[in-house]
Amino acid sequence: MQLIDTFGRVATDLRVSLTDRCTLRCAYCMPAEGVPWLPGDHILTDDEVVRLVGLAVGRLGVTEVRLTGGEPTLRPGLAELIRRLAAVEPRPELSLTTNGLTLARGGPSGAAALREAGLDRVNVSLDTVDPERFRAITRRDRFHDVVAGLAAAAEAGLTPVKVNAVLLRGVNDDEAPSLLRWCLERGYELRFIEQMPLDAQHGWDRRMMVSAGETLAALRAEFDLEPLGGRGSAPAELYLVDGGPGRVGVIGSVTAPFCAACDRVRLTADGHVRDCLFARDETDLRTPMRAGASDEELARRWQAAVWRKRAGHGIGEPNFRQPARPMSAIGG
Ligand code: SAM
Ligand code: SF4
Repeated sequence: MQLIDTFGRVATDLRVSLTDRCTLRCAYCMPAEGVPWLPGDHILTDDEVVRLVGLAVGRLGVTEVRLTGGEPTLRPGLAELIRRLAAVEPRPELSLTTNGLTLARGGPSGAAALREAGLDRVNVSLDTVDPERFRAITRRDRFHDVVAGLAAAAEAGLTPVKVNAVLLRGVNDDEAPSLLRWCLERGYELRFIEQMPLDAQHGWDRRMMVSAGETLAALRAEFDLEPLGGRGSAPAELYLVDGGPGRVGVIGSVTAPFCAACDRVRLTADGHVRDCLFARDETDLRTPMRAGASDEELARRWQAAVWRKRAGHGIGEPNFRQPARPMSAIGG
């Protein structure tokens, strides 16, 4: 069995949100006061996460599992959950997207404990190398914790350590080269992601978005970038920097969507399948699961959810509407 849609795309990359809560308040993600959090009893338990991931991997052809949120390191017992997910057969590749605040701390959400539990890789979000700007963007004074977290991730062998950055016009849009230089010096692989209409406050404005094209132009002014193929006829998104070995990603999710090659599917913290970040419909697996549905029935529901996946996200089309769920509750 596979997770296939009517366009023949097969989903093999599962993003699992473990919580919608977060320790930061990034301006492009949520307002200063946060958002109404999901009720605690709606959040999948560890047993439920393990069961659904087991189904996805064991029956539905998923090969990669990325844990995200909200901030996934807020999930109590994360290392133990990772240990259980690493024992799923056939073992999926396990990665984590995090703001990095806990990674250097030691203890159960520290990089060493997560690695030891079976985590393979991390993506850490960092939009600036200026502590003051970091505070302005995230509304928290935690720049040095992220920097230490990145170092702890590399030290623990959660490699290649990847850094996700969002550029915001008038805030950090002059930082593409400095971020890249900073990451190259430390051996991290940087990816720029275009700001998407997924903020809880629905304040996204296309004119304010820094496009992948602008980011590339800024990088090319200081670095030699050689496109690394891999996306067929789609625009390159990975580049070798100054002949290598350093690489940089510039991802035009809005201006150069890769929907035709999309292999992702998402499971929200409250147990809903989403076939796209921008999906308007979701399929609830939690309710039937708690009502006693069999693995077979849950797998069929999951397949039916993916089968309906639309051709593209449709940003920019007249009938585009931002999904009701913000990024923090979908799982980025
Ligand atoms: N809290 C973790 C973190 O920040 O890495 C994981 C969840 S966060 C929602 C996942 C990724 O989504 C981060 O790299 C973040 O920068 C990105 N993100 C959040 N809101 C976004 C938006 N409106 N447009 C583009 N990327 C966004
Ligand atoms: Fe939290 Fe990640 Fe959203 Fe920032 S982007 S507020 S770290 S969930």
